[in-house]
Amino acid sequence: MATYVYRFTEGDKDQKDLLGGKGANLAEMTRLGLPVPPGFTITTEACRAYLRDGDVPADLRVEVTLALRELEDTAGRSLGDFHDPLLVSVRSGAKFSMPGMMDTVLNIGLNDASVQGLTELAGDARFAWDSYRRLIQMFGKTVLDVDGELFSDALDAKKEARGAAADVDLTEDDLRELVDEYKQIVKDNAGREFPQHPREQLDLAVEAVFRSWNTERARLYRRRERIPDDLGTAVNVVTMVFGNLGDSSGTGVCFTRDPSTGESGMYGDYLVNAQGEDVVAGIRNTLHLTDLEELDPRSYADLRAAMRRLETHYRDLCDIEFTIEQGKLWLLQTRVGKRTAGAAFRVATQLVDENLITMDEALGRVTGAQLSQLMFPQFDPAATKEHLTTGLSASPGAAVGEIVLDTAQAEARAAAGADVILVRRETNPDDLGGMIVAKGVLTARGGKTSHAAVVARGMGTCAVVGAEEIAVDVEAETVTIGERVLRPGDVVAIDGTTGEVYLGDVPVADSPVMAYISGGLDAGLAAAGDDADTRELVEAVHRLLSHADARRRMAVRTNADNAADAQRARERGAQGIGLCRTEHMFLGDRRTLVERLILAEGEAERDAALAGLLEPQRSDFESLLEAMDGLPATIRLIDPPLHEFLPDLTELAVEVALADERGESGEEVERRRTLLAAVRRMHESNPMLGLRGVRLGLKIPGLFALQIRAVAEAAAHRSAAGGSPQPEIMVPLVGSRRELQIVRDEAERIVAEVAAEQGVTLDIPIGCMVELPRAAMTAERIAEEADFFSFGTNDLTQTAWGFSRDDVEGAFFADYLANGVLTISPFETLDADGVGALVRIGAERGRSTSPGLKIGVCGEHGGDPESIHFFESVGLDYVSCSPFRVPVARLEAGRAAVKGEDATR
Ligand code: PEP
Ligand code: MG
Repeated sequence: MATYVYRFTEGDKDQKDLLGGKGANLAEMTRLGLPVPPGFTITTEACRAYLRDGDVPADLRVEVTLALRELEDTAGRSLGDFHDPLLVSVRSGAKFSMPGMMDTVLNIGLNDASVQGLTELAGDARFAWDSYRRLIQMFGKTVLDVDGELFSDALDAKKEARGAAADVDLTEDDLRELVDEYKQIVKDNAGREFPQHPREQLDLAVEAVFRSWNTERARLYRRRERIPDDLGTAVNVVTMVFGNLGDSSGTGVCFTRDPSTGESGMYGDYLVNAQGEDVVAGIRNTLHLTDLEELDPRSYADLRAAMRRLETHYRDLCDIEFTIEQGKLWLLQTRVGKRTAGAAFRVATQLVDENLITMDEALGRVTGAQLSQLMFPQFDPAATKEHLTTGLSASPGAAVGEIVLDTAQAEARAAAGADVILVRRETNPDDLGGMIVAKGVLTARGGKTSHAAVVARGMGTCAVVGAEEIAVDVEAETVTIGERVLRPGDVVAIDGTTGEVYLGDVPVADSPVMAYISGGLDAGLAAAGDDADTRELVEAVHRLLSHADARRRMAVRTNADNAADAQRARERGAQGIGLCRTEHMFLGDRRTLVERLILAEGEAERDAALAGLLEPQRSDFESLLEAMDGLPATIRLIDPPLHEFLPDLTELAVEVALADERGESGEEVERRRTLLAAVRRMHESNPMLGLRGVRLGLKIPGLFALQIRAVAEAAAHRSAAGGSPQPEIMVPLVGSRRELQIVRDEAERIVAEVAAEQGVTLDIPIGCMVELPRAAMTAERIAEEADFFSFGTNDLTQTAWGFSRDDVEGAFFADYLANGVLTISPFETLDADGVGALVRIGAERGRSTSPGLKIGVCGEHGGDPESIHFFESVGLDYVSCSPFRVPVARLEAGRAAVKGEDATR
């Protein structure tokens, strides 16, 4: 037989699954001998049984009776007694805190008779009737589903009739009348009388709390917080203590350290002559804890001792709810307190310095998400803002600037010294110039892995994408949002952390933590200036990040396509390049070279076009290898479908048709006509599954060869210049061993040729992306041709799910997230069950034939905290991510390593 009820004297803090967070901590405090009102907890298991069967388990009623009798015996009072009533509260409490989402009912046990008993007990009739009034209101609303407005309307009407300004101005008689009115409201709207029997009140309240697990708002909250739906809530039945029994009573909330700044020292609010709900409602101004010291030194001293005891016991910042009933302190709740990102870092290192936790434990107390919050410039939270619309938070940060609609405008205005926000329907590689100079990017279409999002994240530029309410008309030069029409030059502010878009200037503050990350401790401290709190924060980040570096097993590389990004990432701690996407080197002016290659007729023309690309590629690689000197740099051969370098089919067709209609002729018209034919020829229905990656290399002779030669020559030049280049050549979209073998044979030949020509030794590893399910499933064979693997989890997610990465996020992910098919985009956090299984299989099979095979990951997931923990569990050698996320990845890789060690201990 399951035990459904645990006395507070029976449980402990590690039983959150069964007793919920509140119940487990109440039991723990009871065990510690702290003043907790006696009570018991009904388990989450009982809740699950109720939700499953639609009725409470039979044993539960008996167990509640036994626990209740004990409670009554200890108190020497019985529930709802006419003279000396015991009253209880019924409080929800799930494993994970879901503030305000579920129900609580206070003052259970009051009825027409026991209200007299409470009057005698408290010596205060007004108080007793007010308590009864509150019970009917709370019970009516949460247990009997009566519209809460009916009660508050009746209360307001009573105050108006009596000329009372506040609730406290109502007299005992007013409250008696109100109780009658409330009972009538219940009868009229619930189809039954307000239950007078205390045990019936208790049982109904418990069931209501069970049911509140499944309200719409609770479900929504869980989905957002990624709390599983099947946990259920526990229910705590707690002896009532009253903070509203006069001026020697009160209620408050306190923290053992300041949860918003992390400053050490007690922190909290207190409200005299009030109940908990009054604090939450914010009706009256609260006092600071120091005021309590003056008002009631004894209770203050007790509270202080309890806070210290709890912090020492939990070895963390605790948040505590307490009530003082006529000079006696009671603790109603405690938990390890939520805190801001800055407070998390400071508190963790303070606790280390106080020898309460180790550095390993401190690392477990901070997260990459918190670190990245500390790195971004932020909008001043106090500023007033005019909200325009909301999109997807694609690349965090805060940016303010004038609207520009294309690269030309962006570059012109930026050159004139203006901060600009590039606003586009969506972005494509042509917008790169504009994105580089822009402070922020805002698009109407696209998801979190759309071009705009990926590129902006890579550059550390703030971006909001997929703001569907926005209509961009480039011709008319307007950006329309609902009724409002904005034009180039109008100022907007975008928050890439939340996806919010505001009108006008909003003040932005730079981050000293970022100054530390890119410039070292002295630079960070200099940026913090005289502000002691900020200095402590910078030092805390430094200590924890250094510890993560010392503890982590996985290396952290960066995805960088140019020397500037590589340099920036290196400053932030990158240990090499995990992915250089060479296609980005074929944009801008060089696009015409690619065009020539595609249009080439015959070998001679093709070779000439290729020759034109060699020199620029070589110099790209030289500067990249220089920036990463001494560290590995994985250079990926060209990947995307070639049509991405060609003009849009429809636009070109229209241009040619118009030229024909006008009877135009000449060289340019002819060029376009030929180009159009080529674009038509190369048009694919599913380009992402078409002629790209290794397939392209095998189809267009000389293309990969040119890049391989450029890499080898760049390495030879760097060596000759005294550098220590460590290039690695990576082949994209490999699905079979033979594909890699063909490229590898060619690469080895070219590298040997260059080495001989230049008179140097070149040792360039050749590996491949594993980004197709078939590559993962046949990894043991592919590994025989590969010096390394790098998981391309973007394409692997696309192909494993059959989700077009360019389309699905905008098309239906919102629905999938809303109806719970997905809890988060698998393009953001690795789908461990499906795509992760492929990663695990690929790594295991690859290493089965090639023990010690170096394996990394370079998809977007390489910078995602949760995914990094997964990659640690699979035993990858490194993660590679955008320069901005390098510090986050360092921290998370360290945390993952420590967690992994703990788990195997
Ligand atoms: C990938 O597919 O995960 C990857 C890194 O390559 P790309 O995003 O360039 O396709
Ligand atoms: Mg890919």
